Amino acid sequence: MASEVARHLLFQSHITAKTAHTSSQVSDHEQKQKDSPRSLTMSGHVGFESLPDQLVNRSIQQGFCFNILCVGETGIGKSTLIDTLFNTNFEGHESSHFYPHVRLKAQTYELQESNVRLKLTIVNTVGFGDQINKEESYQPIVDYIDAQFEAYLQEELKIKRSLFNYHDSRVHVCLYFISPTGHSLKTLDLLTMKSLDSKVNIIPVIAKADAISKTELQKFKIKLMSELVSNGVQIYHFPTDDETIAKINASMNGHLPFAVVGSMDEVKVGNKMVKARQYPWGVVQVENENHCDFVKLREMLICTNMEDLRDQTHTRHYELYRRHKLEEMGFMDVGPENQPLSLQETYEAKRHEFYGERQRKEEEMKQLFVQRVKEKEAILKEAERELQAKFEHLKRVHQEEKLRLEEKRRLLEEEIMAFSKKKATSEIYQNQTFMTPGSNLRKDKDRKKEPSYRLELLCFDVRACETIGGRKDAEEANQNRCKLTSRADTAAEPRVRNPCETPLLLPDWPTPALLKLRPGPGGFPRVTQDPTWPRRDCGLSSFRASPGHRVLPTQRLSSLPEVLTRTV
Ligand code: GDP
Repeated sequence: MASEVARHLLFQSHITAKTAHTSSQVSDHEQKQKDSPRSLTMSGHVGFESLPDQLVNRSIQQGFCFNILCVGETGIGKSTLIDTLFNTNFEGHESSHFYPHVRLKAQTYELQESNVRLKLTIVNTVGFGDQINKEESYQPIVDYIDAQFEAYLQEELKIKRSLFNYHDSRVHVCLYFISPTGHSLKTLDLLTMKSLDSKVNIIPVIAKADAISKTELQKFKIKLMSELVSNGVQIYHFPTDDETIAKINASMNGHLPFAVVGSMDEVKVGNKMVKARQYPWGVVQVENENHCDFVKLREMLICTNMEDLRDQTHTRHYELYRRHKLEEMGFMDVGPENQPLSLQETYEAKRHEFYGERQRKEEEMKQLFVQRVKEKEAILKEAERELQAKFEHLKRVHQEEKLRLEEKRRLLEEEIMAFSKKKATSEIYQNQTFMTPGSNLRKDKDRKKEPSYRLELLCFDVRACETIGGRKDAEEANQNRCKLTSRADTAAEPRVRNPCETPLLLPDWPTPALLKLRPGPGGFPRVTQDPTWPRRDCGLSSFRASPGHRVLPTQRLSSLPEVLTRTV
């Protein structure tokens, strides 16, 4: 552990030295001397040489975390390999092949080896490759990896960060399980690896390598690697920049993809128990490098490069995610003219841009609203025009119908009047004959002497029996009755029995007239006549048109209480 940390520090100082060297090339010599740190020889022990030990102690105290993502079809041997790798039985249930979607199941375990604690998270892809349509199988994996990066970024962006005790769930390595078909990569494998390679360190492994012969395996490995290269899939290569491990890592890179066998079963081989898979024809020893690459994988993954995998995750994959995310949010390090931009400036620029965009959208919406209102107005106006035209048409039709009916009514009234007149005349003559049978001769003689016109007034109250107003009129009229009667007597005016609206029948006039008497000023009856008839002067008063005049039904003439006769 101490050597790892020391290597880390060495690496850091190496980078610092390199950076200083690069910058010195651009500055002038004097500046270089001024800026570069002076090397001093110390005369005695100070103690900072214990820094690596301090780091080791702190790291041990803090513990480590490591997250492995296993991608591969159900039943390809993921769980068995993980159990074999950590020599533990992680309680897991066998996955079903019938899930409708791929889902990721993460389980965290606390492991301890000597005094080093490891928080290990195993993420399993449940249902991967089981669906008929595998098009979207990789998307849940991509989403899961992004979600872990996002969670870390959110923690980083907090004002009160607690990265020290934050459970880092970012995926450090993806063990991609390839079926030992001996042919080539499946499209699903290529697609998935391609979409993951910029987000996670991929280590491809050929699962169940005991199912393929040694010569076939070599060919298969070569084929897989060339396919990955030709499809531009970036897999994780063990780092070779650290001298101490460069050689072993370089040689291990040549063995990729590792062909592994997993088993937790112990089989007695020789005089010791080993992890192996026993078949009728022999035993496949998991940890025998002649049988499979399991040991190589364990060495590379856990013993040699675990820290590099963690480091790559943070400095390469997370950094890429963070950069994209911050750029998406509008943050940038330099402005359009390459001048450095502070966070405040970026924020102001972004705010300005946001307000501008908001105003533009508001304006667009206003215009859209006005346009919609105009369109609606036009539609309404059109509908109104149509309605108006319809109304005019109906009005015209109604007017024509009204005129037609009025004409019909006029004709009918004329017919009724003619009939009434005839009937009234005949009744009057009948009555006169019946009432004064002896005077018939005299009357006939008188009639010959008298002028040709005779005014006969038939008086009765038509309205009194019809409306309340009529009844009132009748009462008023009854009060004026004597006056009118005496006046009628003395002035030889027509004797009015009921001087309210009283229809007069002038049977002998050239034009039959049905008149009305109403109480006028000074008690004189005002005589009114049907408005359709011409004005006449009969010596009583002037005849005036009376609105609402009713034609007396002729059959009622027979029941008239009194008949007044006067020669005009
Ligand atoms: P997972 O669904 O991918 O997690 O697969 P499992 O680990 O549950 O393994 C499914 C089956 O494959 C089990 O019966 C294992 O014993 C078997 N298996 C696991 N690893 C190997 C292997 O390396 N070789 C062979 N032949 N069988 C294996």
